[in-house]
Amino acid sequence: MDWADDNEQAAFRSRVRGVITASLPKRYGSGDGEEEGSWERDRRSPVAEHKQAAADWTKALAEQGWVAPHWPKEYGGAGLSPMEQFIFKQEMAASGAPSVGGQGVSQLGPTLIIHGTPEQKAEHLPKILSGEVDWRQGYSEPGAGSDLASLQTRAVRDGDEYVINGQKIWTSLAHYADWLYALVRTDPDAPKHRGISFLLMDKTTPGLSIRPLIDMSSRHHFNETFFEDVRVPVRNRVGEENRGWYVGMTLLDFERSNITGAVNGKRTLDRLTAFLQTAEGKAKSPGAKANRLAVADRYIEVDVMFNFSFRIISMQNRGMVPNYEASVSKLFNSEMNQKIALTGTRVFGLYANIYDGKDERAPLGASMSTNYLRSVSSTIAAGTSEIQRNIIATRGLGLPRG
Ligand SMILES: Cc1cc2nc3c(=O)[nH]c(=O)nc-3n(C[C@H](O)[C@H](O)[C@H](O)COP(=O)(O)OP(=O)(O)OC[C@H]3O[C@@H](n4cnc5c(N)ncnc54)[C@H](O)[C@@H]3O)c2cc1C
Repeated sequence: MDWADDNEQAAFRSRVRGVITASLPKRYGSGDGEEEGSWERDRRSPVAEHKQAAADWTKALAEQGWVAPHWPKEYGGAGLSPMEQFIFKQEMAASGAPSVGGQGVSQLGPTLIIHGTPEQKAEHLPKILSGEVDWRQGYSEPGAGSDLASLQTRAVRDGDEYVINGQKIWTSLAHYADWLYALVRTDPDAPKHRGISFLLMDKTTPGLSIRPLIDMSSRHHFNETFFEDVRVPVRNRVGEENRGWYVGMTLLDFERSNITGAVNGKRTLDRLTAFLQTAEGKAKSPGAKANRLAVADRYIEVDVMFNFSFRIISMQNRGMVPNYEASVSKLFNSEMNQKIALTGTRVFGLYANIYDGKDERAPLGASMSTNYLRSVSSTIAAGTSEIQRNIIATRGLGLPRG
């Protein structure tokens, strides 16, 4: 296989690199990759310098039309081809640059572009692109995750409004967001996929409350979202009433290679091996020699991951739609991520038990130990490994449903 850039791709890559080199605020790019949510956090930060970094980076990307690389140009996106998106993401990940616009850019915008009314598009799309409004997703519930269509949060029509009662959970980064998009049940008697509607809601609406969930790495990433008689105007419904499942499942036409995972995995391993060769690294890694083969295996897996990513992007580049191939890539990427995290802690023996990054005994600022705790969720988020395996089994291997 020849995965080398052609002339046009090489020119685009060098343009992306140029913008990152010239404009990426110093605050970003030093770790193993983009820390998820760093733009969202900085945008709301009480520290003026951090807030400014988020604003400067938004401006730099917006000048190129790269806040929303996959949106069509007529809506303010860059209209990049899947291959250009791939290159863009690869370069962003390689420099640890945060993406801007969160789930407004990745999910809500493309959904509105397909299903939104002209008024909804005019009201919301520009504010996503400018970074003025950050959106978060309220889909999962305590009793509805993999089987999302069994969701119970109820919306009852009352004149020009819906009155919502219920609870969402795992609402990532909702504490930084301004608006939420959510799936709610509007017809409890219909078959479960057909009684759901898709609503947009301002986070400050009375009755809507967000409570933190602290994960096992002591991080506030998730939230619980409660609805107590929350009134949302009917004009904030996207698509028809009771057809929200299909709105929420809109296949968003963008690059699906997981290239960011491959690049970040390589960055982490490079940082680990560089540290292991320093005097401090040698002193703090009594287990390094025994784990040498494990580190080599992780490098091989990262290489395999690059090839999965290249396979998907080459399909998309030929106009094909990846199906079970995207599940293979997601599954492999999330399990690789966990294995890298495990290897990255094992080499440090008992030093890996230090979780405080400020403790000077902690190797690499305890980043490997923190990665280890955080990587647990990678095989759950965005479709669990079991669900990916079901897809691979049925759609890829043609096995019967269990
Ligand atoms: C980091 C992270 C961020 C998230 N962010 C958000 C967010 O912003 N908004 C949001 O709405 N949700 C979010 N989620 C929730 C996420 O979508 C769900 O956790 C996920 O869909 C799994 O659902 P669940 O946790 O209810 O587990 P369950 O679906 O209850 O699964 C429990 C176990 O059963 C297995 N299982 C379930 N069904 C099957 C099956 N059919 N066959 C075989 N095994 C099965 C699963 O694989 C899993 O091991 C996030 C989750 C994580 C981890």
